[in-house]
Amino acid sequence: MTRAFLEDASFNQSPAFGDVDLFSADRPLSDAAARYGLGEAELSACGRDYGSFESFELGRIANENPPRLRTMDGKGNRVDAIEFHPAYHALMTKSIGYGIHSSAHDGSEPFGPMTQRAMRLYMATQAESGHLCPVTMTHACLGALAAEPDVLRAWKDKILSRSYDAVLKPWQSKSGVTIGMGMTERQGGTDVRANISFAEEKGDHVEITGHKWFMSAPMCDAFLVLAQGAGGLTCYLMPRFRPDGSLNAIRFQRLKDKLGNKSNASSEVEFHGAYALRIGREGQGVRTIIEMVQLTRIDCAVASAGLMRIALAQAINHIRNRSVFQRRLADQPAMRAVAADLALELEANVALVFRLTHAADKPDDAGEAAWLRLMTPAIKYLVCKSAPAFVNEALECFGGNGYSEELPMARYYREAPLNAIWEGSGNVMALDVLRAAARQPDATNEVIDRLARTAGEACDAAGIASMLKRMLRSGEAEGRARFLCEHLARLGAVAALVEAGSPFAGLYAATRLAGPPVAQYGARDLGFRNESTLMERALAV
Ligand SMILES: Cc1cc2nc3c(=O)[nH]c(=O)nc-3n(C[C@H](O)[C@H](O)[C@H](O)COP(=O)(O)OP(=O)(O)OC[C@H]3O[C@@H](n4cnc5c(N)ncnc54)[C@H](O)[C@@H]3O)c2cc1C
Repeated sequence: MTRAFLEDASFNQSPAFGDVDLFSADRPLSDAAARYGLGEAELSACGRDYGSFESFELGRIANENPPRLRTMDGKGNRVDAIEFHPAYHALMTKSIGYGIHSSAHDGSEPFGPMTQRAMRLYMATQAESGHLCPVTMTHACLGALAAEPDVLRAWKDKILSRSYDAVLKPWQSKSGVTIGMGMTERQGGTDVRANISFAEEKGDHVEITGHKWFMSAPMCDAFLVLAQGAGGLTCYLMPRFRPDGSLNAIRFQRLKDKLGNKSNASSEVEFHGAYALRIGREGQGVRTIIEMVQLTRIDCAVASAGLMRIALAQAINHIRNRSVFQRRLADQPAMRAVAADLALELEANVALVFRLTHAADKPDDAGEAAWLRLMTPAIKYLVCKSAPAFVNEALECFGGNGYSEELPMARYYREAPLNAIWEGSGNVMALDVLRAAARQPDATNEVIDRLARTAGEACDAAGIASMLKRMLRSGEAEGRARFLCEHLARLGAVAALVEAGSPFAGLYAATRLAGPPVAQYGARDLGFRNESTLMERALAV
């Protein structure tokens, strides 16, 4: 008995999760793809690739070997290079190869390009989140570069290229480029109008002097940067090299020592008269870069949903294979209540984020455009801010193993708060909902009425809709911004589930919009059959 015990040390430990098709095994995802008429075979191939043990290993190794900054060579010459582990480069090669940075713009997706591409992002982030920072920013930069057609024309082919070229050299000689973004300064990130970096006109370009307190993915080939021009805050494109081939005056000070997101470099940087080109009109910097920010906000929500999904899939894989008191955890009522409640939350988040990308796929539809403007901050708020508590609960399904750095749950947990912070933190998103409503009150009322009509098939939504409209008009809206934002997003989630034909729209509404308030997952009675279906759909293997 003792010998058998020693020889089989992994007895009653769950098998490692991997070699799974992240598309087909995820019913909420594959249902959404079918509903929007997307390329399911391609998505399934992508899901198998990111779901392989090999991809999960790349994610682990890239995070255990974070990037390093080399400011100078041995002779004291500036190099300002960031060195990454080969595992990071392998992930970048894969994600650039799948066009997660480009396929929404290059015409390669005949139906729902934003949504099909977002589904790849959702699966890629399950293998590794950090490397997707430059991938997202490169995807999003095209929104801002459109304000300067000549610059866009010059850069577009390199941006859309599916060849990942990690060599530090002038962008003209590279097979593909990535683009970053520098807005945040020490004295203010949200309040970018307080930026003190400034640009001096030099004929056909400007030279920027100043700093950025957070500039992620510093190995990018160029950055969209906000600085004070003669006419006020303006957007500029700052390449790593000057047109004569010399290194641009971008001096990285150090890399941030971050809570999570270890595979991704985030720098503190100074500009010493760095060469840059104006993008969009002088003094219109926020208006120009907001086109990029809107796209990155959508990606934050999609990526947080992906992170929640991999945490839940890992947890379900564990509880299906772990017995406590001689009974599988997945069969124990208290554990089923937790896993199914998480799965219900995820069903709604998945319906919501792909409803969001579906709206982004319809830029010419005025109703969808109004929906997108109001719901982007609300959905980013709800989904991204839900991630830490969700991942925490999934981690706890593992018991003590959840706390081990050798297993992936700890990494997911440290990653989970990030998307809620960058590209507009929680309060900023809630206030942005108010701003959208104040600017377009009629369109806002129409969106809320539409949500209520759709959600009304699953619950009594009229009361919530009129409460939202009344509060948005009232003087107390700012103090109740989070309440408004959360209820708007949850109403949107019920409507998204109804539109998806989900059998869980009523259950979600009953447990999230009505019913006694509870603080923890697993405290709601979802019913035995619903629990089984929800868990089965979350991990259909
Ligand atoms: C890992 C990481 C990578 C990043 N990468 C980049 C990057 O590549 N480029 C870049 O430009 N930035 C980057 N950022 C910066 C990020 O976008 C900012 O940190 C974020 O926007 C918040 O700005 P801040 O840190 O200045 O906080 P502040 O603006 O000081 O906000 C502090 C808090 O106050 C709240 N708040 C703000 N305004 C109000 C208000 N009116 N009412 C009530 N509450 C309010 C916010 O929600 C927040 O909780 C990165 C951040 C992190 C953590």
